[in-house]
Amino acid sequence: MTKSFRTILIANRGEIALRVIRTCRQMGILSVAVCSDADANAPHVIAADEAVHIGPSPASESYLNIARVIEAALRTGADAIHPGYGFLSENAEFAERCAAAWITFIGPLPEVIRRMGLKSAGRKIADEAGVPTVPGYDGDDQNDETLRAQISRIGFPVLIKASAGGGGKGMRVVRGESEVDEAVAAARREAEKAFGNGSLLLEKYLAGARHVEVQIFGDTHGNLVHLFERDCSVQRRHQKIIEESPSPAVTAELRKNLGEAAVRIGQALGYTNAGTVEFILAPNNEFYFIEVNTRLQVEHPVTEMITGLDLVRLQIEIAEGKPLPFMQAEVQTSGHAIEARLYAEDPEHDFLPASGPIHDWHPPEPGEGLRIDAGIAQGTEIGIHYDPLLAKLIAHGPDRESAIRKLTYALRQLSIQGLITNREFLIRLLEHEEFRNGSAHTGFISEHLNELTGCENAEPAAASMIAAASMIAAALYWQRAWQSADDLMANLPPAFRNNPFHDPSIKLQVGTQESEVSWRHIATDVFALKLNDVIVQAQVLSCEPGSLRVSLDGVQRTFRVIEAGTHLYLHSSLGSCHVERLSRYPETHSAADAGSANSPMPGQVLKILVTVGQQVAAGDPLLILEAMKMEHTMRAAVDSVVEAILVTAGQVVGPGQLLINLVAM
Ligand code: ADP
Repeated sequence: MTKSFRTILIANRGEIALRVIRTCRQMGILSVAVCSDADANAPHVIAADEAVHIGPSPASESYLNIARVIEAALRTGADAIHPGYGFLSENAEFAERCAAAWITFIGPLPEVIRRMGLKSAGRKIADEAGVPTVPGYDGDDQNDETLRAQISRIGFPVLIKASAGGGGKGMRVVRGESEVDEAVAAARREAEKAFGNGSLLLEKYLAGARHVEVQIFGDTHGNLVHLFERDCSVQRRHQKIIEESPSPAVTAELRKNLGEAAVRIGQALGYTNAGTVEFILAPNNEFYFIEVNTRLQVEHPVTEMITGLDLVRLQIEIAEGKPLPFMQAEVQTSGHAIEARLYAEDPEHDFLPASGPIHDWHPPEPGEGLRIDAGIAQGTEIGIHYDPLLAKLIAHGPDRESAIRKLTYALRQLSIQGLITNREFLIRLLEHEEFRNGSAHTGFISEHLNELTGCENAEPAAASMIAAASMIAAALYWQRAWQSADDLMANLPPAFRNNPFHDPSIKLQVGTQESEVSWRHIATDVFALKLNDVIVQAQVLSCEPGSLRVSLDGVQRTFRVIEAGTHLYLHSSLGSCHVERLSRYPETHSAADAGSANSPMPGQVLKILVTVGQQVAAGDPLLILEAMKMEHTMRAAVDSVVEAILVTAGQVVGPGQLLINLVAM
């Protein structure tokens, strides 16, 4: 009997919650989000039709709290729960508790989830289905002695895995006898801590191998198909960051064999809904089963882009009891798709997760062949409670090269600022020759870490251009702040300290570098900027809130300019950087410096607002100056009398030039 869901609760957060909401909306299904304290205003909460707060920020008290999630579903009358990935998605007890509450769990049967929760059980199913597994040991006898003997039998290098593991946790490569005891003890400890199950699995470690997985779908009518492979070989800490389909390493014959092997495993399990059968592809093109993931994968969009299918829709329809709408032979693919995961993490420091506010989030426009699945927005605070995945960018093209190029371009266009991310790391990776030629295996990142990280990669020319852009934007912003913000008026220097032989300068922190920038006015809106020893000619072409169009040495670019606290965040086709002004120069003047005021920037006098002999109070406007396409009202810093007006309207003035002489009262 088929059902027709009216309401689906999404027991997840971030990009995957938004992804599921999108399909619900397309299908005319009401979506319900759940959230923790930390996510009270998160994008998935705003996007859903309804939302229920389910607990404090720690996942164990909210997104992993089965009772609270089910209660939220009951309260909103949800017919079904989509678990996304992570959290409760592979929790058999959760699936059972859903069923007990007459709510459909969108995923496979609880017993299949439970069985595949242990990698050792997966290996047994693979054996039964006649699919090779990596030579190893998956026995119940977990004695130290036994494990030691098995490691010797398998032969080094050996990979120790947590049988109940996931997310690369508890995995250890053992390369020699002397490492065995320590590695077994540590892996067991980690496994117990992370999964509450210290059972270990041993596999021959296959160096130079690739991770190739096959998407499967089964319905409740006995149909089971595969949707071809995804290559997820590019990993750090045994976790994927780039995924693509088709795999550059898989021939048509291998593809057929992989697909058939995955389907045999699915059939042996009586598998329903979406699942992924993971394989290791050895350098000699032999493949070995590693595990079954009983949920939708993070990387499902690449399969969607090459097949044109909506996998979330398929999941929902299967959960409604509908048959798969196609047969294996009808599944067609077109072109190549590739996904990059944008993480809040620091590639320079062992990919440690990062946290912080997102001051700027400005992805390129999705469209023809470009998809962006994001779970964040401008202002989102990335905390410590959840996975640091921020967004996924997925590009599709007629072939691998065009898809990679599109993805690289999109990553370059994207501005994400305020916290450390792997954006630049991803760009370098996608541009690496070895990745481009399709030969990257699972050891690729660790083998090339130095080339993929570190500033030595940055082209010197680009670096100075970024810095030049920073100078302009910084100078522009700070000048504006001095001139227009009322609360900064007190800091307006009461007198110009004119030194015609010295170009004005500013000290900046540009990224990690301290720089001294000086500038000279050449013509209206044209400046010669000097950063350390590099001179760049800059012209401000236009200026709008949040963006500045500048010509640098004759090349025009638009810079996003986002201000947050004392920082400016800049992004252009040259890259991203943030700039902070280091203390020095005019703002250190105080109102006590009685006398006259100065012009911190070169510009043109637009209008004089006072006359000689006039008394002015602190804050009264004196004249309007135009500089860098903006008007700046100069104001009196203290109560004073206008003693002399030294300029006329229309006059171009240099930086530091005395404009109006005031005498304090
Ligand atoms: P988890 O469930 O923790 O993600 P997996 O068993 O899926 O663990 O393995 C994670 C990754 O580790 C794989 O994608 C692959 O890159 C690598 N890996 C797993 N098994 C082997 C092996 N036997 N030899 C070499 N690499 C392996």
